[in-house]
Amino acid sequence: MTTPTIELKPSSRPLSDTERDAILASPGFGRHFTDHMVTVKWTEGRGWHDGQLVPYGPLSLDPATNVLHYAQEIFEGLKAYRQPDGTVATFRPDMNAKRFQHSAWRLGMPELPVETFIEACDALVQQDKDWVPAHGGEESLYLRPFMIATEVGLGVKPANEYLFVVIASPAGAYFPGGVKPVSIWLSEDRVRAVPGGVGDAKTGGNYAASLLAQAEAAAKGCDQVAYLDAVEHKWVEELGGMNLYFVYGNKIVTPTLTGSLLAGVTRDSLLQVARDLGYEAEETRVSIDQWQADTESGALTEVFACGTAAVITPVGTVKRATGEWKQSGGEAGEVTMRLRNALLDVQRGTAEDRHGWMHKLG
Ligand SMILES: *Cc1c(COP(=O)(O)O)cnc(C)c1O
Repeated sequence: MTTPTIELKPSSRPLSDTERDAILASPGFGRHFTDHMVTVKWTEGRGWHDGQLVPYGPLSLDPATNVLHYAQEIFEGLKAYRQPDGTVATFRPDMNAKRFQHSAWRLGMPELPVETFIEACDALVQQDKDWVPAHGGEESLYLRPFMIATEVGLGVKPANEYLFVVIASPAGAYFPGGVKPVSIWLSEDRVRAVPGGVGDAKTGGNYAASLLAQAEAAAKGCDQVAYLDAVEHKWVEELGGMNLYFVYGNKIVTPTLTGSLLAGVTRDSLLQVARDLGYEAEETRVSIDQWQADTESGALTEVFACGTAAVITPVGTVKRATGEWKQSGGEAGEVTMRLRNALLDVQRGTAEDRHGWMHKLG
């Protein structure tokens, strides 16, 4: 099957420079979208075809479209950063493309070729590059590739038609007023994912399953939920949309990928960045009781969460049914901030790209 090239059908009425600049002055997160989107279709027997860059706009779907009923949907999230020389680069798009294939496989969907995923992202960033915020801060253009089952009908089976779409949204600094630690509710009853399930696929259903716990956490005054494994309710897995790291002095550890965790690109990158900076970095299992005991003994010095949107978020407070404690005095820890800046410097092009992570566009 051939790889489609994206046919360019740009908008005749993109936003004016003034309108766009007004949005870029305070973009928030996921509130505004660029002038264009890319779509590629897949049909059984024909494969991937009809790749197009078109004006951003609504999709028209029959009410019986499969995805609306059985949630055969997957997505990705990656960022394009303005570089010091004015060009634009995306961060490790090949990792997102491969994870998208894994998610597709798990959800019974066709796997988009890695080159087509990257080509689609490149075409959109290239067309809308004026939407990539200026170099300097933490601002970026967030790309949201996703795929939905578009077959019409209520039969339960993998669909015979799909639509792959990439949209883009300018993203401001995640912490506009400076990095602020988050509070975590440790859920010991609700789970996010189960062994043999879809926890390692980036699919909307995992998020739907996490929203009630998220609302309960908010009612307890917490920002985020941390989930434990579904069998023993003992091993720390991750937050609803971010992976976790534990700092033990000069060593950082993150929960092993057991199949019910999402393999974050940020998680993977930090294992390497930490080693580059001379820290030990390892993947292991961490129990909730060990988390609490090691904090109390002082061995566990910092905890942080990581993901594309916030890069690194320090954890300041942890609450569970039986108690609550502060992490590094409720402040952003030193190792946390050092890793955060080191990774951001690679992304915004002010530190050497030692591992070929930046995918440069014109
Ligand atoms: C996307 C996601 C992450 C973070 O992955 P990154 O590739 O680092 O953005 C972590 N956990 C879940 C459940 C996710 O969906």
